[in-house]
Amino acid sequence: MPQPTTYALPLRVRFRGILERQGMVWRGPAGWAEWSPFLDYEGAELVPWLAAADEAAEQGWPAPLRDRVPVNSTIPAVGPESAHRLAVEAGCRTAKVKVAEPGQTVADDLDRVEAVRDALGPDGRVRVDANGGWSVDDAERNLRALARFGLEYAEQPCAGVEELADLRRRLARSGVDVLVAADESIRRATDPYRVRAMEAADVAVLKVQPLGGVRACLEVAERIGLPVVVSSALETSVGIRAGLALAAALPELPFACGLNTVRLLADDLVADPLVAEDGMLPVAALDLAPATLERHRAPAEVDAAWQARLAQTRALVAAGAGRG
Ligand SMILES: [Mg+2]
Repeated sequence: MPQPTTYALPLRVRFRGILERQGMVWRGPAGWAEWSPFLDYEGAELVPWLAAADEAAEQGWPAPLRDRVPVNSTIPAVGPESAHRLAVEAGCRTAKVKVAEPGQTVADDLDRVEAVRDALGPDGRVRVDANGGWSVDDAERNLRALARFGLEYAEQPCAGVEELADLRRRLARSGVDVLVAADESIRRATDPYRVRAMEAADVAVLKVQPLGGVRACLEVAERIGLPVVVSSALETSVGIRAGLALAAALPELPFACGLNTVRLLADDLVADPLVAEDGMLPVAALDLAPATLERHRAPAEVDAAWQARLAQTRALVAAGAGRG
């Protein structure tokens, strides 16, 4: 087992409540792997993240069906001027706008989404992501208001699968034409297929690390019976490359993928970061830069915590813990 290196990278702006991304990278016979479960994940939940890293290092991925993947920009919960600028700078025809940020109001969301719609023009695609932050009542009211900007879909507007199903029925009844995408309801669920059984979503968001690797995601995509969007877990280019492998191997790719998130980090670990040009990312070999990795090596106490986390997760795998 090659010795994993712990990295610590600052974010450009607060995202998901964090200002620094931490994780581990290592190289195996098949290539570089990233293991970067968020710090609020624990125990058996970390097992699929490790399966994804082991797949990248030991096994590699299925053959790609495409050599470029369309991606969206991700607009954090910033003010409208910054949102407009970020959407233009990214150069993508699709933007995902964060909404329902704690401490903000729906007026902030409306201003931000309007600014992004303005930046992309009428042909651009705008989706929102509430990370489960709304009640069903709030989601119905807020999506009705946001719908005038033309939404591609709303990602995880409410936290629970039942709530998503209820919201979908209500939106249909009141003629609000917004599709619902499930993200947390798939990646943190014991049963990702419940979303389909409950008719809780129109679109499934798949993330390689929390779902246990590229092959595991391909199986979910095949069985879930919904169009899928591949998204990142805010990884460095090492983890993004696994997301690209999934997007490249999917038989159908109807939506731009949420894999253009390296630009949310202040730096990266590779010589040629996976940042989109003209809304596309290439499916190509990765060239990790040793000096850059060295520069972002985490302090000793952070590394010790991650080495312990990894050892605990390996012990869980050895003890036969299933998917988190
Ligand atoms: Mg999401």
